[in-house]
Amino acid sequence: MAVTINGREIAEDVVSKVKASAADLIETSGITPGIAVVIVGEDPASQVYVASKGRKARECGFHSVQYTLPEDTSEDELVALVEKLNADQLIHGILVQLPLPKHIDSGRIIQTISPDKDVDGFHFVNVGKLGTGEIETAFVPCTPAGSMLLIERILGRDLSGLNAVVIGRSNIVGKPMFNLLLAHNATVTIAHSKTKDLAALCRTADILVAAVGRPQMVKADWVKPGATVIDVGINRIPAPEKGEEKTRLVGDVDFADVSTVAGAVTPVPGGVGPMTIAMLMANTLVAAYRSVGEVPPRF
Ligand code: NAP
Repeated sequence: MAVTINGREIAEDVVSKVKASAADLIETSGITPGIAVVIVGEDPASQVYVASKGRKARECGFHSVQYTLPEDTSEDELVALVEKLNADQLIHGILVQLPLPKHIDSGRIIQTISPDKDVDGFHFVNVGKLGTGEIETAFVPCTPAGSMLLIERILGRDLSGLNAVVIGRSNIVGKPMFNLLLAHNATVTIAHSKTKDLAALCRTADILVAAVGRPQMVKADWVKPGATVIDVGINRIPAPEKGEEKTRLVGDVDFADVSTVAGAVTPVPGGVGPMTIAMLMANTLVAAYRSVGEVPPRF
């Protein structure tokens, strides 16, 4: 049976390190890492995410502010807020919760965030740095960064000679994941909805990352024996066994089935999910260290 990769425990390790390093920074330079989270509208899932980011930031000892703006906020108003936060010396990380209401061009908002405060890693400057291998000075998107840490815990930092397959080519998960694995010397293939014979391709992978959004798509016969499988997917499916209209969360990987073949696999929930928020804290800490010219800790 595969080892279950405990994302909660590893995320807690990251958060403990962030807490300790934040306390060091406060003591040595008087700088408290600051994060601003901006949410526009009433989307209940986004409200939950934003609240948990604020809670985690406070747990880390950060200065944390939340801006909750009405659904009819104009694009120019949001740009003005981001510009104000760019200039605010108490804020080192800015996160604008996506998705934004349809009348707002999220691309314009993301590109307005200062690359030095872009703790989501979506600004073109950070995307370009990651794409050109300038990882030490980039902000890497939190979900792939967290997934990479999980892979490192199993296989170490040098993935020379290993084949990796990433299913999914989104800008927030698939593509940055591809670049991170490449930077760690894996031989990487990225697959998507137009890929032929996906199962056969996946069977070549020593490291398989699924970031698709299709419940339990990856089965045991897609997996090379002993492979490390990272399940980024979060899907809600009906759970009649829990009662009428009840649901449960599953990943893109059929966990029970794949566990019979893989060497290590992340569960959902409790795998990649907790890492995402931990890496947001790590990125904010790094931004605060860089703001005073200090070398940030490595995660
Ligand atoms: P996305 O933007 O919808 O991208 C999905 C990707 O999967 C696309 O590249 C798509 O291909 C590909 N795809 C769809 N159906 C496929 C199929 N049958 N075979 C092969 N490839 C297929 O999704 P995302 O934002 O990357 O998110 C992916 C999953 O991760 C979702 O379940 C999301 O909820 C989850 N997620 C989790 C976290 C976390 O914190 N754990 C964070 C972000 C996202 P095309 O490009 O050809 O359309």
